[in-house]
Formats: sequence, structure tokens, C-alpha cells
Amino acid sequence: MDVNSLVLAPEGDVILVVGAKQFRIHADSLFLKRHSTVFAALFGPNFREGQDLNASSPKEIPLPDDDPYAMTAICATMYHAFDQIPRSPATDFVLSIIRHADKYDCCDVLTLPSQVYGWLKSDHLTLGKDLVNILAVSYLVRDQEAFKNTSKALVSKYDGSFADLADDVICDVLPWKTFCRLEELRTRIQTLAISIVLGTLDKPGYGSYRYTNTHSGCSKVAEGIQETLRNDLSMEVHQRQEREYRERPYRTLPRPPATQQPAIGPLLKKLQELAEACRECRKNVKASQLNTFGLSLAGNDLRQVAMLPEWYWGLKLTY
Ligand SMILES: [Zn+2]
Repeated sequence: MDVNSLVLAPEGDVILVVGAKQFRIHADSLFLKRHSTVFAALFGPNFREGQDLNASSPKEIPLPDDDPYAMTAICATMYHAFDQIPRSPATDFVLSIIRHADKYDCCDVLTLPSQVYGWLKSDHLTLGKDLVNILAVSYLVRDQEAFKNTSKALVSKYDGSFADLADDVICDVLPWKTFCRLEELRTRIQTLAISIVLGTLDKPGYGSYRYTNTHSGCSKVAEGIQETLRNDLSMEVHQRQEREYRERPYRTLPRPPATQQPAIGPLLKKLQELAEACRECRKNVKASQLNTFGLSLAGNDLRQVAMLPEWYWGLKLTY
């Protein structure tokens, strides 16, 4: 393949000239029209681009704002040119491809490669930036399941400020409400963890009747969780971290600790340990439904932003 062009159809009647570097993609207008309503309109009777198309002198169609890599991936998928379809693209590249597909209204075309090559999978991702890219992609393609899994992974694995993840590209796709919801989820889980751990403490006696503590075997694990929560929530710890950050000769941390948040994943793991150690705690952990959290897309059009975690409202959150 030429570095500056891709020939998908040697007999094609159009050449897409993509991006500032004018990458050329040779294709058939008929093929592009079939897959994309935007191309169907562009190559229809009402636009100059659609007039007098013929294979003997293919017409150049300038698309200066588009990304050549993303357009290559999309057009190659239309033509089943598998050697041109990225197998495991970086998440920002996946987002770029899907944003272009959204622009040309041809996301359906990408269902096959995104399923086969697992573009929307988030299990293996650990960085907040990667996870938020896949969250935006799931939102664009209206994939309920991927959106839920990725929001769950973001809340459990990411230990920074959600506001930091909301850059211009992401905010162009995801509504701000998403980030408020993520932060709510994180806080909600912390609150539930606190209520479960408080439940392990001895209850005071009243007169001659003492409420007996039905917990057994969980005190050690509960103490560990209390310690973790104290560190996560204490002003003193945050002030110490900030002092240490300022005194560091080389500030290697990505941001000052004021905006650092605890990752929820380790806390959930500890609650699981608690559930294994004690019958009463198992009941409480189970009732809190902490394993089902995640944001959902709502409404007829899945892209509406009234997203609620399944367990968010109306559930008895404490025992
Ligand atoms: Zn217990």
C-alpha cells in the first residue's frame, strides 16, 4: 500500500481526500452510499459532489477535517479489507474511529470488527483515560452492556478526579451528568461500606437487656477496613500527603493529592473478605448489592442521559 493512498476499488468513481495531509482513499460512491446516510445524501442528486460521477475520471471529495486513519478503518470495514482494519487499536483511536462513524452515520458497519476484535472490552484496561475513552465509545454506539461494565471499571479502578478525565473530546461525546453520576457512585459505595463496618461494632446495652452482637469472626477484617476508610477520608492524612507532595524534590505524582480519590476496587475486595469471615456481615454485604453497580443508559433512545445505577433508588441500603 502506498503511504499516501489506499485503493479499495480500482474502478471506483470517487477518491476521498482526507485530512491536512490529503490521504487518498479510492472507492465506489455506490458502496459508500449503501452504508452511510451522510454519503447517500452527499452523492445524491442535491449536491455537487453527486453530479456526473463516473469511473473513468473519479471525482476528488475533500474531507479536510477528518482523520485518515479513522476513515481508512471505516472504509476498509465496508470493503471487508481485513488487512486494513486495526486488530487492537489504542482506546483513543477506537474513539476517533467511532466518532467518525457517528459523523457519517455508519456505526453499524463497525459492529463486526468491534465485536470480533473486542474494541469495547474494558476488563484489561487500568488507566482512567483508556476507560473513559471506551465509556464514550459505548455511549456513541448505544451499547448498554459495555457502558455498564466500563462505568463499573472506572469507579473501581480509577483513583483520580473524574473532572480531570473530562477533556474537550470526551465532553463532546459524553454529557457532564455522566461524571457527576460516577462521583455519586463512588461516594455511595463508600457510604455503604462505612455503614456495613459500623454494624460490626458492639451495640450499647439497655438496662438489664443487652443487645447481643450477632457478629463473629469479622472483627479483624473490619478493623482493617476502618483503617482504610480513615486514611481515605481523614483530613489529616490528606494534609500530610499534600505536605509530602510539596516537599518532594521531583514532583512525580500526576497531580497534588487534594484531588486524589480512593480507588473503590480494594474496598470492595475487603468487604468481600468481611462477607466470608462472618455470617451477619455476609447478609449486610449482600443486601447492599455492591456487585451490581454501574451506570445505565436510559430511555427509548439509549443515548439519553437519565442514567441510574440499578440499585440506586428505593432499596433498603442498610440492614
Ligand atoms: Zn460481622
